[in-house]
Amino acid sequence: MELKLDPKHAAFRDEVRRFIDENLPADIRDRVENGKHLGKADYVTWQRLLNKRGWMAPGWPVEHGGTGWTPMQRYVFEHELGAAPAPPVIAFGVTMVGPVIIAFGNEAQKKRYLPRILASDDWWCQGYSEPEAGSDLAGLRSRAVRDGDHYVVNGSKTWTTLAQFADMMFCLVRTGGDGKKQEGISFVLIDMHSPGITVRPIITMEGGHEVNQVFFDNVRVPVENRIGEEGKGWTYAKYLLAHERTNIARTGYARRMLARLKRIAADQRSDGRPLIEDPEFRAKIAALEIEMLALEATVLRMVSGENAGRAPGPESSILKIKGSVIQQRLAELQMEAVGSYAMPFVPEWFDPGWNEEPVGPDYAAPLAAHYFNWRKSSIYGGSNEIQHNIIAKHMLGF
Ligand SMILES: Cc1cc2nc3c(=O)[nH]c(=O)nc-3n(C[C@H](O)[C@H](O)[C@H](O)COP(=O)(O)OP(=O)(O)OC[C@H]3O[C@@H](n4cnc5c(N)ncnc54)[C@H](O)[C@@H]3O)c2cc1C
Repeated sequence: MELKLDPKHAAFRDEVRRFIDENLPADIRDRVENGKHLGKADYVTWQRLLNKRGWMAPGWPVEHGGTGWTPMQRYVFEHELGAAPAPPVIAFGVTMVGPVIIAFGNEAQKKRYLPRILASDDWWCQGYSEPEAGSDLAGLRSRAVRDGDHYVVNGSKTWTTLAQFADMMFCLVRTGGDGKKQEGISFVLIDMHSPGITVRPIITMEGGHEVNQVFFDNVRVPVENRIGEEGKGWTYAKYLLAHERTNIARTGYARRMLARLKRIAADQRSDGRPLIEDPEFRAKIAALEIEMLALEATVLRMVSGENAGRAPGPESSILKIKGSVIQQRLAELQMEAVGSYAMPFVPEWFDPGWNEEPVGPDYAAPLAAHYFNWRKSSIYGGSNEIQHNIIAKHMLGF
């Protein structure tokens, strides 16, 4: 099956590809392609290049720096970035808090924060989850107590992605206590350089430092940093979660990983012939490719609905589940393809400057770590079990 773009979108796709080819620095592309760790400077460099071209915030209204693209153009853009491969644009500023500030922030907040998001002058992180308040987010306990024109915040957030780089956190805090759990939550913007904040790394099982626990000890946050009304944070938080779903299927990334899987399988040998000619392994690749094409068709169906003015609903839970399962299966099959070469684990391989000979083929070195790291994709952004619940309740009527 081949889904063809119409001439207008094919021309747009070529323009995006040309821009990436001409602008993405080769060393950054190389790090993304080979699964090496990216530093803050890598992300910021790329985002500033996108911003210079006017492509940093495709989803924003034009008056705030958006592109005015159709949903289909936005899909093509995200797909090409993932397939190139370019570094992902860090979503916390542009995709998450930006739309909330645009929809619910006051003029001073828009003027202060939106240009800094576009220019990547502030690095944002997301302070939603807490120990014992992940799926049950409304159970969060970090508290903000009013003291004159400040809130004093105490508590802790966890799994905070890339908080080690962050200048700002958008954060859910409890400002009221009685009534329903969802009531009494406020949405505040916290300067991560404030006294009383500690960021403690959580090292994931492959040895990476992507997530953190953040502690607040009497952190003073100006009341002017609250978005919208006190106690209405749940409404803004839910609005943001709807935006978090963008690009959740990661089809461009999956295409690139599938191409890599086929390259690996063509290079590895089984019973004296290339592994890709082994009927059993070939069938596994084919089954996965079919799933991937079906997901792409589902995404395109939703995008065409959006083009016709229909807002994406609970169907985005399908994209989250299928996208994450496909990403995990790709990582699993790549590891299976290299067999025992996946076993030696050299954490330094992921850092710039490491030039020791790998054990086995070069492409085998990151595969196990990659597999372990991608276990996260069925947990973050709302676990797959929770997405199944959403589908059952809102689509199947259980
Ligand atoms: C790599 C990574 C990055 C993350 N980054 C961020 C971030 O930047 N900011 C942030 O705020 N959060 C972040 N998170 C947190 C993420 O949103 C939560 O981990 C997720 O919502 C699950 O919450 P939990 O970890 O508390 O697990 P729990 O909610 O305790 O769930 C444990 C298990 O029980 C299942 N479960 C729970 N409730 C139900 C139910 N009602 N029905 C069926 N099954 C259920 C879950 O699916 C899961 O398998 C990140 C998580 C990961 C893994």
